[in-house]
Amino acid sequence: MGSKKAFAGRALSALGLLPVIAGLRSRYVSELMILAYHRIVDLADDTEYKFDLDLISASSDDFEWQMTFVKKHYNPITFFDLVEITAGRMQMPPRPLIVTFDDGFDDNYTVAFPILKKCNVPATIFISTDYIGGTKPFWFDWVAYMILCADNMMIDLHSADLVLELNSDRNQRKLLLKTLLQRLKEIPNSSRITTIEILEHQTGFVKNKEKFSQSAPLTWEQVKEMSASNIEFGSHSVTHPIFSNLDDDELYYEIEHSKNVLEDQLAKPCQVLAYPVGGKNAFDKRALKMAEQCGYEFSTSYVNGTNSFVCYEKYALKRLHVERYQSREEFAAMLSLPSIFM
Ligand SMILES: [Zn+2]
Repeated sequence: MGSKKAFAGRALSALGLLPVIAGLRSRYVSELMILAYHRIVDLADDTEYKFDLDLISASSDDFEWQMTFVKKHYNPITFFDLVEITAGRMQMPPRPLIVTFDDGFDDNYTVAFPILKKCNVPATIFISTDYIGGTKPFWFDWVAYMILCADNMMIDLHSADLVLELNSDRNQRKLLLKTLLQRLKEIPNSSRITTIEILEHQTGFVKNKEKFSQSAPLTWEQVKEMSASNIEFGSHSVTHPIFSNLDDDELYYEIEHSKNVLEDQLAKPCQVLAYPVGGKNAFDKRALKMAEQCGYEFSTSYVNGTNSFVCYEKYALKRLHVERYQSREEFAAMLSLPSIFM
């Protein structure tokens, strides 16, 4: 967020104006806000962290502050509620908001879940079903680990048309990681898989049998416990590929099979899907159509924005990103005046 925006956010917040603006705005703008989180993690020292820092959306203190703010000024609902509202069986509350998490990291259970319960805020967690209950980190975090922790070396990733020179400068490695992750999101799915295998081979890292404490997926027991207690689960595909890089059969498997697995495990309908990565190039019209055909009621993208009741795309809902470097004022400003502060 630019410094002018940060300053304006701080000033409005200091004057106590943000909730007032939010209240006034909701009278004239009918919209649904969906917050997008990944992980809630407390870090004593960033440099000791071996995975992708950008996946941490907030510390536990900040998250609790945010959920308290949400509960006070908004009406948190779920996608289940949204289905009921759309069918005319429930009324849309003023200032509706949905809290969502992507991927299915175990801190959603150990850190976020107790705070959500304490603040009485429901949430939706989108999970990539193949990872749940396993020891493998999500592929993008595994790539981060390999790039950040490998010895100094030259890595030739011909399948991604990239050569990376890893040295002792952690910031340089973070930049290389960004470049590599970007490339992995653009190339065909089979090349992405091959590239990760080459990276494992060249760095000498093998997928561990033990969980990494800093990057572990949820277990099905945790998912079931949360599902029985105000947390809704949606699909985030089976293996977290980039949908626009899949052929029709692969796409169908990712969308349909993840829904079946969730419904078998939780004995509840899985009504909502979040496209992996979710930027405007990460999914295409085929995905929207297939989500509808497979029986989902809604899908969310990761495109930044809010959803007007007058015209919103049921299968490409926009979300507001929560990032760990946002201050509390910036968070409040993003919700109160999203078009300016998101
Ligand atoms: Zn994801």
